[in-house]
Amino acid sequence: MKTMKAAVFERPGRIVIQERPIPEVGPTDALLRVTLTTICGTDVHILKGEFPVAPGRIVGHEPVGVIERLGAAITGYEVGQRVIVGAITPCGQCNTCLDGHRSQCRGRPMGGWRFGNTIDGCQAEFVLVPDAMANLSPIPDGLTDEQVLMCPDIMSTGISGAENGSVRIGDVVAVFAQGPIGLCATAGARLRGATRVIVVDGIAERLALAKTLGADEAVDCTKTDPVDAIMKLTDGRGVDVSIEALGREQTFEWGLRVLKPGGALSSLGVYSGKLSLPVDAFAAGLGDHTIRTTLCPGGKERMRRLMSIVQSGRVDLRSFVTHRFKLDQIEEAYELFANQRDQVIKVAITP
Ligand SMILES: [Zn+2]
Ligand SMILES: [Zn+2]
Repeated sequence: MKTMKAAVFERPGRIVIQERPIPEVGPTDALLRVTLTTICGTDVHILKGEFPVAPGRIVGHEPVGVIERLGAAITGYEVGQRVIVGAITPCGQCNTCLDGHRSQCRGRPMGGWRFGNTIDGCQAEFVLVPDAMANLSPIPDGLTDEQVLMCPDIMSTGISGAENGSVRIGDVVAVFAQGPIGLCATAGARLRGATRVIVVDGIAERLALAKTLGADEAVDCTKTDPVDAIMKLTDGRGVDVSIEALGREQTFEWGLRVLKPGGALSSLGVYSGKLSLPVDAFAAGLGDHTIRTTLCPGGKERMRRLMSIVQSGRVDLRSFVTHRFKLDQIEEAYELFANQRDQVIKVAITP
């Protein structure tokens, strides 16, 4: 049996490289030789035992690669084609997918998130892509692996924050937290036509990076109260849309408190414990507010659209890759990324 190197979750605190069998390809699968991948904040939650996955699971959900083998039922693709696959791999055929909620595939909460969660992921030399015809998305000629590395998750999630907040031309948008996803939400707000994007974070370098992606004003929440600052910046009017990109009670509450009546809070964060709301923060439920939550949209058409944004030059996320590692060094990469050392934004991992 042929084997491959893979990053495996053993138990909380331990993700290690192991030799694992190269997966067998079923009729509707494709085997991808991974050429580049990355580590997500969610992988760090898995490492710390904060998000449970089965011991022995190969982690990772952001693959860039080359088709190595195709299942017998797959048409329209060729071995050797360069592709990306979204972090979310919908089946594309169940009622929930056909109802437009592909991330909740098969009617299960987060059901579309399979890589590195319910099936083996892509921090490995090879990954098996399920429902390949719904998920393999060819990389346009001329784009490098690094240029499309953010598409499977970070860019898809971040931009969906602006889309699902229904940002309109001329809107004022506030984005809370400027990690990789918040930065993409900032870029998304600008793409959707917001004319004023106010970003909030406590790290100066991230606020500076946000300005290069379309932020107009930056609020350092370690120095000023962001709610006061935003209300002042908007002459007491509040914002049309606020985007929460951290997953904490405080940022969620800030997002509500800066909303104008009729505004929308678009939530991207992953929350744990309990989320409690002071009712005055949303006008006792009578403010015509919208609260919308989103899990990263996936599927090949989503990936095609995101890569077209990259190809058009409207968003350039190459500056996100601050550190590069070989798959063999992934434990070192996790250590750096989990502790957010050396001003890391994202790491690139080459198998
Ligand atoms: Zn992720
Ligand atoms: Zn489905």
